[in-house]
Amino acid sequence: MLPTESLLADFPILDQSIHGRRLVYLDNAATTQKPRTVLQASRHYYETLNANIHRGTHQLARMATEAFENSRQTVAAHLNAASADEVIFTSGTTGGINLVANILALSGRIGSGDEVLVSTLEHHSNIVPWQMLCQRTGATLKVIPCLDDGTLDQDAFHTLLGGRVKILALTWISNAFGTVNPVVEMTQAAHAAGALVLIDAAQAIAHLPIDVRGLGADFLAFSGHKVYAPTGIGVLWGRASLLNDLPPWQGGGEMIREVTFDHTTYNDLPFKYEAGTPNIEGAITLAAALDYVNGIGIDAIHAHENELIRSAAVALAGIAGIRLFGPAGRAGSLSYAIEGLHHYDIGTMLDHMGVAVRTGHHCCQPLMARFGMTGTVRASFALYNTLQDVETFATATQKAVAMLR
Ligand code: PMP
Repeated sequence: MLPTESLLADFPILDQSIHGRRLVYLDNAATTQKPRTVLQASRHYYETLNANIHRGTHQLARMATEAFENSRQTVAAHLNAASADEVIFTSGTTGGINLVANILALSGRIGSGDEVLVSTLEHHSNIVPWQMLCQRTGATLKVIPCLDDGTLDQDAFHTLLGGRVKILALTWISNAFGTVNPVVEMTQAAHAAGALVLIDAAQAIAHLPIDVRGLGADFLAFSGHKVYAPTGIGVLWGRASLLNDLPPWQGGGEMIREVTFDHTTYNDLPFKYEAGTPNIEGAITLAAALDYVNGIGIDAIHAHENELIRSAAVALAGIAGIRLFGPAGRAGSLSYAIEGLHHYDIGTMLDHMGVAVRTGHHCCQPLMARFGMTGTVRASFALYNTLQDVETFATATQKAVAMLR
């Protein structure tokens, strides 16, 4: 297990009471808390570096530009990208997926009669942009079904690949159930069928090592706030050979080479996809967050969280009428429902006992519908959670159930 006592000291927000109890924060799949080094990086940026980047001739602008571009290098190294030019700063996972859906639609690579393949496990962010693309292009959205254990039906996936699939858009880790999809194998199969692959790494970024070259996909999107950085910053990684061929989407400053009223020529990667002033402080603090994670080690974090999730599953198993969702090898999140009780009531009672969990559909309404649910109670874990947190959460759940029954 990780040395959580010293790690907890890195997160000032966790040192507080909620409703008179020590805060047990188990809503990390929604957003993570920020360590002091990230808070300090933000403050340092505004106290010493703040200037608009790339176009300035003055020293402060040069320093801000250097810090911003160094952050791109940090992200590229973290993802094992072939080049920092493949790292596009976005507003988050949603921003990255919408960018890809829009440039594919604009490029004409997806048209009438073609198919876009998603899975039942997807977050709305990896469904709705593709539905919008289908409406625009005349393509059809196809869905990989989910088995009762919360894993994807691989036989059905291979059958679906026999159609006219142009892109597979797949989550690596389900935010609702914690299911870890076999993304390498599924990417290989999709490529063999002639499809592109986008991986939604919104959850994976905080729990697993990511090596985009080893993974073999074409695009990968994540959000900074899921990995101890602030909201409003994210990354789209895309294969340079592909992005060079695809059209720009949003027009504005920085994405251009030359503008006249008759004609505009576009900048090279990554600037071609970064129109307007970016979230400079966000990129710098994202790099600080990745440095923090790498200082602990993502494998050690993963092992620690796995131990917490396994213990939570065992501790909850004895509760009468409980249903745990997802397979045994979950990462990040653990979802449950209790027969006859509403998830919202359980969540409210847990909150009164100082335990922050999320209840509802987790932006996965089609997945909830597949399991005949309107929502679940979800506990999601981070590097600062402890076995004591798991115990408090399980005991609070038992108490809530006893009171509500
Ligand atoms: N995909 C998954 C799997 C997620 O968990 C989330 C956030 N809950 C998103 C996409 C969307 O991320 P964001 O709201 O940060 O863009």
